[in-house]
Amino acid sequence: MPVQSYHTPDSWEGAVSALARDRAVPTAGGTDLVPLMRAGIADPDVLVDLRHLPDSGTIVAGDDGSLRLGAAVTLDAVAHHALVRAQFPALAEAAASVGSQPLRDVGTLGGNLCQRVRCWYFRGDHPCLRRGGTHCSAEIGENQYHAIFRTGGCVVAHPSDCAVALVALDATVHLRGPAGPRQVPAAGFLVPSSQRLDAESCLEPGEMVEAVSLPASAAGGTQFFHKQMQRAAWDFALVSIAAAKRRDGAVRLVLGGVANTPWRVTSSIEEDVASGGLSDDDIETLAQRALYDATPLAKNAYKLDLATALLCRAIARVSRD
Ligand SMILES: Cc1cc2nc3c(=O)[nH]c(=O)nc-3n(C[C@H](O)[C@H](O)[C@H](O)COP(=O)(O)OP(=O)(O)OC[C@H]3O[C@@H](n4cnc5c(N)ncnc54)[C@H](O)[C@@H]3O)c2cc1C
Repeated sequence: MPVQSYHTPDSWEGAVSALARDRAVPTAGGTDLVPLMRAGIADPDVLVDLRHLPDSGTIVAGDDGSLRLGAAVTLDAVAHHALVRAQFPALAEAAASVGSQPLRDVGTLGGNLCQRVRCWYFRGDHPCLRRGGTHCSAEIGENQYHAIFRTGGCVVAHPSDCAVALVALDATVHLRGPAGPRQVPAAGFLVPSSQRLDAESCLEPGEMVEAVSLPASAAGGTQFFHKQMQRAAWDFALVSIAAAKRRDGAVRLVLGGVANTPWRVTSSIEEDVASGGLSDDDIETLAQRALYDATPLAKNAYKLDLATALLCRAIARVSRD
């Protein structure tokens, strides 16, 4: 995997112009990009290291209680930053749950959002819709870790833990590219396979994640992230949940490991949870309503039970706090 040049721009303009070169790819910690190159999925001529850009490695509090995290902030820094832990613990817990300590020391928040999907057909040398194939091999093959909600032809579940928390916290993703800066809600950053198959995010060619911001309205309250894994640690989510009851009473419930993107339950269910006074039966009914549209694959029906259990626990906690 020979790369012709490696750039370390120290200005956003420099990064945009380096990424405009033919077969230029952004990188930060390299923890996902290097395996992608080894697998022949990424084949860059030019690598553009985004870790030296202004403010890319900082976490800055706004006067209004909001927080802005540069894309090159490491996952370990997100997990341990005092303000993130105090005001946005769901994100701190999600970052702390990613992989292993060495991975969190090097891997970045931007890289976590932009990592490619984890599917043995995609990462191996098998027919795969995302690699130009005509069908999704996982749909009829080994699909025990895949989605239970169908959002397109590819049945992969997105692996990012941080994305799940960011959707629950109404975060905004700040992008930079040849057309200038723009912002998208975290809920719209990752896109389903019905929308595109060449990537999992809404990034346009030459565009990069500059930062993520968390609004003051999502700070505090009751919030948490929980991830159910096959092993006790160092693993991707089978199913995860980020839940929040904000100080204004609004509730957010977002599942991970169940769809191409983080899966926010419908707002009418969140409103019912917010209204409180729920019996155990009410909680069970709401969890089942939230999963009504799920269509598990041949080998992952267990995810429906896991998601039900995580939802029941989360609803009980946020509705009774
Ligand atoms: C063993 C292992 C276990 C893991 N476990 C988990 C887990 O439990 N949960 C989880 O969520 N993740 C997990 N991951 C994924 C891990 O979080 C990512 O590999 C890491 O966050 C990527 O960050 P990075 O800085 O190394 O990105 P890189 O590897 O440098 O880049 C990753 C991808 O993102 C692109 N990219 C990087 N930064 C930007 C940017 N600012 N703008 C646009 N594109 C960008 C690159 O082009 C590349 O395609 C695991 C990975 C490994 C190897």
